[in-house]
Amino acid sequence: VLQIGVLALQGDVNEHRRALESLGAVAQPVKVADELAGLDGLVIPGGESTVIDKLARFSGLDGVIRAKIAQGFPVYGSCAGMIMLADTIADPATNLKGDPQQSFGGIDMVVKRNAFGRQIDSFEVDLDFKGLDVLPSQDPDQAAKPVRAAFIRAPWVSSVGERVEVLATIPAGNTPLGGDGVRLARIVAVRSGKLLATSFHPEVGGERRIHELFIQMIRGDA
Ligand code: GLN
Repeated sequence: VLQIGVLALQGDVNEHRRALESLGAVAQPVKVADELAGLDGLVIPGGESTVIDKLARFSGLDGVIRAKIAQGFPVYGSCAGMIMLADTIADPATNLKGDPQQSFGGIDMVVKRNAFGRQIDSFEVDLDFKGLDVLPSQDPDQAAKPVRAAFIRAPWVSSVGERVEVLATIPAGNTPLGGDGVRLARIVAVRSGKLLATSFHPEVGGERRIHELFIQMIRGDA
């Protein structure tokens, strides 16, 4: 049985635990570095990346997570978790001393925080998501259904490096007008090696296939 940690510093930890356990994994909350030992993978939940960053640095978890990521440890980050996995944050928040927030990094991409607007601009949309057609839960005779994706003060991915695979893009009709009056389609899900990240929250609805994909990645079957 896979033992998968859920970083439990802040954010929607329990929704991710429930999603993982519904797929037969054991989900362990991780608050301190010792709790990472023996785990097969880690989920970084949605919440507030500035708070997750601050608490992770305070406890020294940040260095341990960075080292594990460098060794190929599987990690899935949703929303704030995606921000934590980005090598570059386009618009990092700064604290009172002027120090910018930091990410763990690992995925060669630039993310833009709160890209879709404020909390009241949160929305749900159906998205095509690459690779779900080969999951064990998928009936091979049927097309994979779109993913019902909740965007809550979500980031988007402004650019990705060569080794990053784009798994989902939100059409221009669902993105806000840019300063130049143009709407662009935006990248909202990526994979790089054993790292997976989504702008949206699959865990808040009944969607389980993103966690299933992550489990397949941990097993080496995807
Ligand atoms: N806006 C949050 C951040 O920048 C992310 C929101 C979320 O995780 N739902 O960290």
